[in-house]
Amino acid sequence: MQDLAAGLRRFQRDVFPAKAELFAGLAARHTPDTLFIGCSDARVVPELITQREPGELFVIRTAGNLVPAHAPFAADGVAAGVEYAVTVLGVTDIVVCGHSACGAMTALAEGHDLRGAPAVAEWLRHADDAVARTSDSATGADRVPALVRENVRAQLTRLTTHPSVARALARDELTLHGWVYDIPTGSVENLTLATAA
Ligand SMILES: [Zn+2]
Repeated sequence: MQDLAAGLRRFQRDVFPAKAELFAGLAARHTPDTLFIGCSDARVVPELITQREPGELFVIRTAGNLVPAHAPFAADGVAAGVEYAVTVLGVTDIVVCGHSACGAMTALAEGHDLRGAPAVAEWLRHADDAVARTSDSATGADRVPALVRENVRAQLTRLTTHPSVARALARDELTLHGWVYDIPTGSVENLTLATAA
């Protein structure tokens, strides 16, 4: 916690003044053009890897970058965030970003015992379809990266069950993108074309 306080002081002293004009404008303006759905993993920092300024990305981060399917009358935080970004903010792009060495995908690919983390186990069921599609096609060390990719594709598909996303796609006002970020190299594999194929 001391590190956070020291970081905050450094931000206020060294970083904020240089961007004071930006922050003053943002005080009354929230117009991000992209919804970035990434993993909660501390190593995957959306604004850093896309070099976006404050105000430019609307971000949802969940364990495993999972997006629950739309469920009428049972909205969760992800559904609300997606709807707000698309309907109210009018984002033109949604990126679902998976990443290498994802703890969530590793647990599923390697069949870890999650009885001690029941909420995690329940949440990861949102990847059941991706796990089912990966189980026959990949073995050994390939299983985790294969599941990471399949999971991003599955979330892109699941996004289309959300009415706000479906409507914006039908009007050609929204584009979906699937990325896989590689932690040790900083490279990004773009799965968008593979998803559309
Ligand atoms: Zn992850």
